Amino acid sequence: MESHDNFAYLLPFIFFVFGCTFLFLRRWGSDSAHHWGIGYIAAALGFASPLLLSELPVEARAIISNALFFAAFFFYGEALYSRFRILPAFNARIFFCAVAMAGIAYLVVVAHDLKGELIVSDLGCAILLLIPLWQTRGHLSRPVDRVLIGMVGLVVVETLVRVSSLIVFASGDAYSSLDDFLSSDYAFVMQVGASILGFLLALTVLGIVMLDVVGQHRHAAEHDPLTDLLNRRGFERATPDFARDAFPSGAVLVCDIDHFKLVNDLFGHAAGDSVIVGLAKVLRDGLPKEALAARFGGEEFVAFLPGVTLAEAGVLANAIRLTFGARNWREGGIDQQVTASFGVSSTARGDHSMHDAIGRADACLYAAKAGGRNQVVTEGSQPANMPRHLRVISVA
Ligand code: GH3
Ligand code: MG
Ligand code: MG
Repeated sequence: MESHDNFAYLLPFIFFVFGCTFLFLRRWGSDSAHHWGIGYIAAALGFASPLLLSELPVEARAIISNALFFAAFFFYGEALYSRFRILPAFNARIFFCAVAMAGIAYLVVVAHDLKGELIVSDLGCAILLLIPLWQTRGHLSRPVDRVLIGMVGLVVVETLVRVSSLIVFASGDAYSSLDDFLSSDYAFVMQVGASILGFLLALTVLGIVMLDVVGQHRHAAEHDPLTDLLNRRGFERATPDFARDAFPSGAVLVCDIDHFKLVNDLFGHAAGDSVIVGLAKVLRDGLPKEALAARFGGEEFVAFLPGVTLAEAGVLANAIRLTFGARNWREGGIDQQVTASFGVSSTARGDHSMHDAIGRADACLYAAKAGGRNQVVTEGSQPANMPRHLRVISVA
């Protein structure tokens, strides 16, 4: 009996600590942590309700603790929706909770049917998790997501097994009152099962929330907030290391918007920003999907195109130049054409790092600016299939 009582204190305490931890982690940028936090605190209060509400009539206690468990499972579901970015079936689930709570109130107050109450309560909780679980199928691209869904699935299975065993083994008058039930072995086993699974789920969620937070911070550290392209640090991390990796054959493309100071001066900084975002989009759409494109600062962009030849990169750069130059900026308040200049190089055997190739592409860009802007200049000797309007220069 004593161990039962100790356990009754321990369980809500553990759930409460996890709930508070999740709420705290939300401040570091995880939206689902917020919902997990509310869910775990609701479950903690549900487990603690026999202790906290001992003054209340037994019917009121039963209804309140059921409502708290429904809230807990409802918010676990919300956490899944927010993590997998699925539109929550909010109204349908609220309606379901209301109907199930009405059923529970009837079973507790009118029918005095404890077994019925337990079945509706557990089944209700399982269904509240099953709905979002079902909707997440097809969204499980990463192993961590599958681990999370596996754990949530286990909680549902454990709940359903508990309901089934209750239906099969317990007769209608096995427990004459809620107090008898709460001190029964069945209730103890139920609490052990729920706490072990709840604890394992909490550890899983904790791990995943931490991974999410670290992932978000890493993304922020390696990407440019305006365009969401890589920044210089992200580019350096993502591109091959010449000293360590196999020779990275490919092309390097650098570009810079022409007379951009003038765009800012004439149309304002916000309009200038929209042009930067526009060029980033043209680059993203125009480059192969393996390309690593970065904003190196201001209105200068660099891209590494693995496996792409100099001639192919020249053609790609020219297509990007034409698309960008043809864009209409009237929506951003700019009523004139904006152009960009491009320099293209390829990685060479003697290069010590990507910066050697970037340096040669930069020299080409400089030549493109000097040659009148709005043009592509590639390094090396003119390849046979190079279109006429691309200039080729020799870079030392
Ligand atoms: P050029 O054709 O020779 O490239 O002339 P330019 O006027 O474009 O010269 P430069 O490339 O040196 O211009 C850089 C300008 O870009 C200066 C700065 O005010 C502007 N700039 C840098 N970062 C940002 C930004 O984030 N937003 C906006 N709107 N402007 C920026
Ligand atoms: Mg410029
Ligand atoms: Mg510049």
